[in-house]
Amino acid sequence: MSALMPTYAPSDLAFEKGEGVYLYTADGRRFLDFCAGIAVSCLGHAHPHMVKALKNQADKVWHVSNLYRSPGQERMAERLAEASFADRVFFCNSGAEALETALKIARKYQRDNGHPERFRVIGCENAFHGRTLATIAAAGQAKLLEGFEPVIDAFDQVAHGNLNEMRAAITDETAAILVEPVQGEGGLRPAPEGYLQGLRDIADEFGLLLMFDEVQCGMGRTGKLFAHEWDGVKPDVVSTAKGLGGGFPLGACLTTEAAAVLGVGNHGTTYGGNPLGMAVANAVFDVLMEDGFLEHVTKMGQALDLALQGLVAKYPDVFTQTRGQGLMRGIQLKESIINRDFKTELETEGLLVAPAGDNVIRLLPPLIIDDSHIAEAIAIFDTVAASHV
Ligand SMILES: *Cc1c(COP(=O)(O)O)cnc(C)c1O
Repeated sequence: MSALMPTYAPSDLAFEKGEGVYLYTADGRRFLDFCAGIAVSCLGHAHPHMVKALKNQADKVWHVSNLYRSPGQERMAERLAEASFADRVFFCNSGAEALETALKIARKYQRDNGHPERFRVIGCENAFHGRTLATIAAAGQAKLLEGFEPVIDAFDQVAHGNLNEMRAAITDETAAILVEPVQGEGGLRPAPEGYLQGLRDIADEFGLLLMFDEVQCGMGRTGKLFAHEWDGVKPDVVSTAKGLGGGFPLGACLTTEAAAVLGVGNHGTTYGGNPLGMAVANAVFDVLMEDGFLEHVTKMGQALDLALQGLVAKYPDVFTQTRGQGLMRGIQLKESIINRDFKTELETEGLLVAPAGDNVIRLLPPLIIDDSHIAEAIAIFDTVAASHV
């Protein structure tokens, strides 16, 4: 018996160390990590540049709070702004907190601009935005909300990818649109072509903020720093997290100058952007911004999808289709095979993956993988798939 609150049902594996794309148990078993701590460990495990930055900072100062200036935050914010649509950045500790920041911005922005009656946020079905009371309400999924009623009545959901539904859902009370450019937990659904631009047009027409949840698809995961860049669309607010700290718990909310409405006393967090976290984030960013790094992600993403498509063709009774973008890939199983069971079977063969909604197996490898890792993963998939026919 454990004293832990039983909020998770972990597999029976405990890892002692990691190196690159591999994790090792104490008894020496090796696993190919195509889960990466759910899209977090973007540079793999024990990346020398990250380790050095963390150790270096650990010898100096860990935490001082935001009562004092933070050169690490200033530098990281400058670099994020330089590389993106954003002018301003707020650092926090998790994805949900980055989303909470965005949701507060939506209200404050409308209030500051003479529309206190606008407070509702329209999102998409099958979305995931975190586990706080506001973010479960924003996602609106029954399985997240059950037991935590009454639901905060400030959110509406429409079908992902449907601009007509989005437009029809807008009322005098709508403040913002909140969408994942590529839905992660919901089953690896990229936005259809033209969708994000359509959302931009709608937001402009009705005076709404366009907010993207790039907690999972941001920080290079799709081969651009942010997934919305593929569509050439400029949002007002973006929340990101997972890959930002490469394993150090970090989140960030990025905004344009016009949407940077949070001033002194409006928002805060004790740990957010502390020196340890910022040292790591700056080190991760060094690597993400290296010449050719994001192109490598795109190339590997295409190779992985091609290989997965090969599996769908070879095992039509096991798989139905592939989905996703960059190194955020999914392969959907036939209804007769449950993704969580299949995940366990892959694990037994030495491959770590994550499940996603809609009976999808999610592949979120470190962005540093090469062709040999893809071949190794596909061989394990092949073995497990063969056992199902
Ligand atoms: C993981 C995730 C979150 C929540 O992040 P936490 O760090 O778990 O709070 C929010 N949105 C998306 C798209 C995510 O994938």
